[in-house]
Amino acid sequence: MHAIQVSQLGGPEVLDPTDLPDPEPGEGQALVELAAVGVNYIDTYFRTGIYPMPLPFVPGVEGGGTVRAVGPGVTTVAPGDRVAWTNTLGAYATLAVVPETDLVVVPDAVDLETATAVALQGMTAHYLLHDTYPVAPGDDVLVHAGAGGMGLLLCQMARSLGARVIATTSSPEKDALAREAGADETLRYGDDLADRVRALTGGEGVAVVYDGVGASTFDASLASLRIRGVLALYGAASGPVPPVDPQRLNSGGSLYLTRPSLHWHVRTPEMLAARASAVFSAVAAGDLSVRIGGRYALDDAATAHRDLESRRTTGKLLLRP
Ligand code: NDP
Repeated sequence: MHAIQVSQLGGPEVLDPTDLPDPEPGEGQALVELAAVGVNYIDTYFRTGIYPMPLPFVPGVEGGGTVRAVGPGVTTVAPGDRVAWTNTLGAYATLAVVPETDLVVVPDAVDLETATAVALQGMTAHYLLHDTYPVAPGDDVLVHAGAGGMGLLLCQMARSLGARVIATTSSPEKDALAREAGADETLRYGDDLADRVRALTGGEGVAVVYDGVGASTFDASLASLRIRGVLALYGAASGPVPPVDPQRLNSGGSLYLTRPSLHWHVRTPEMLAARASAVFSAVAAGDLSVRIGGRYALDDAATAHRDLESRRTTGKLLLRP
């Protein structure tokens, strides 16, 4: 098979196109021929070692394709099934071996590229808006990086739950995309961001901040919350947040801080199936659209990472195996 391999940690240049032996599905596993590969910010954390991994490894935690073979004991998928997954590493490849417990069968109404594009980010947006802080009609909600892969989905889904959505972005072009997706207001980052959020919310602050930017936005996120508001710190695109004094949550107004991750929200096959079904149904019904902001050849994975990390991209990035 053809794959991208990381043999040493570092910048995008360590994403090395290579040929590897075809994998064989073991007990409880399926062999999938990939149709699309999702690029996610977490891939950069694995590549740089923020999330440590034994070397060498094939990166990528989001894929979609067709089952070609199954190992012993597999009961939920069969050759020919169209599937998508997140969680299992190794998607930057033409073939991948995936535990059946990580696979979801893609409904006929959803094409494989779209299914791949929403597998990780769609389910993440779903748990953030329904479980981390269940958004209610009339809530003021702040979404950072509103034109990114996660941001566009959060803006759409929060708006459809009846929230008033305030999004941050770094350019007028990104503002326009966030507004098209459902943001009512767009703001630039900056030292006075929390003041501007308060000005838009009658001085109260927002019910929840969805913050995947991390280090550079954390202080403004806390300062933008209403009394007993929730900071859902779900990523670190600008770098990890330094240790926090819990007393800041008290002085801010009995605030809540959580650092959630998709893994814990799809940790059983039943939870995964329910979450995936909610997202795929929304796509099939036309209630959720995904903007593919870039398609790259598998061998150009390094370019995709460079573009993502330099804030040049909008929406979802995919690799073509
Ligand atoms: P995005 O498409 O959102 O790209 C990152 C965006 O962050 C950029 O486009 C940029 O938007 C903004 N940004 C702000 N500061 C920086 C910076 N210093 N360097 C780079 N980007 C910056 O990426 P994803 O949608 O793939 O991921 C968004 C976040 O969500 C990531 O932190 C990721 O780890 C997290 N995530 C977490 C999950 C979880 O379950 N916890 C699951 C999925 C994703 P702008 O220019 O407008 O500021």
